[in-house]
Amino acid sequence: MADPAQSTPRISGVRSFARREHTRDLNGVNAAIAGIPFDTGASYRTGARFGPEAIRSASVLLREWDPVLEVATLEDLRIVDWGDVGLTPGDAELAVSQIAEQLAPIAESGAVPLGLGGDHLVALGELRALAATAGPLGLILLDSHADTWDAYMGQRFFHGTPFKRAVEEGLIDPSRSLLAGMRGPSYSAADLEDARALGFEVLPYPELAAGGADAYGELARERAGDGPCFLSFDIDFVDPAFAPATGTPEVGGPSSAEALGYVRSLRDIDFRGFDVVEVSPPYDGPGQVTSLLAANVAYTMLGLLALRRRG
Ligand code: MN
Ligand code: MN
Repeated sequence: MADPAQSTPRISGVRSFARREHTRDLNGVNAAIAGIPFDTGASYRTGARFGPEAIRSASVLLREWDPVLEVATLEDLRIVDWGDVGLTPGDAELAVSQIAEQLAPIAESGAVPLGLGGDHLVALGELRALAATAGPLGLILLDSHADTWDAYMGQRFFHGTPFKRAVEEGLIDPSRSLLAGMRGPSYSAADLEDARALGFEVLPYPELAAGGADAYGELARERAGDGPCFLSFDIDFVDPAFAPATGTPEVGGPSSAEALGYVRSLRDIDFRGFDVVEVSPPYDGPGQVTSLLAANVAYTMLGLLALRRRG
């Protein structure tokens, strides 16, 4: 599809991701953008239920050619905006099942779903849908938290538990996974040790930053191997100076440019699904910088897919 901005300006039209066609016809589709407007799993700031619409609005500025990855992302891939998952606000466990059920046809079609969150609990539903066809996936996570807690105030389904639940359900293979970016005050030294005890490799942000993007990409490829993987990007991975609009901000993280560099380094991995989560637009600043970054992270993920398909 040619850039619709050549015929109608970007300021016009109904908002869809990168101005792609809104359809549920998955015939010949390489990637399907799915909004997941859910924040019942948030423990601190809510508002991520408005993430999909804000990211879509910011995404209208995306263009065909990615000059850093050197790929015509929006031209080489047939990308559609599938619309939003219909889910029940206020019931986290039910919402996870609804996400899994509704995204299953995308996974079955062979199209790669890219979820726009939504708080991070949505990943559990996405992983259920993907693992049902692909088997257990390697998890490549960029997040300032590992999200492998067992429960919060008795709640087992909240945005700090998706990957513990996913391991228990056999949806991800921790031995092919890499969790990176963890920082900020935690409940105890055991937080990251618990993630490692599940079999994950954990790269806290200071170590990630010291090694840089190339070393990170190498390590991720080594962990992921040849099997199917899922790439999850929690926007709180980025320093809140660059991405203030999120549920649980942690200072001292990467800039927008650095964060995109880590995503770009993840070439040659068999990603079967992506998501960008935890954008809470009510906390964004003038210029909607967080949503704008989230749109560009999603675009970069699609660029990785386009490169891999090109071979
Ligand atoms: Mn998270
Ligand atoms: Mn987080």
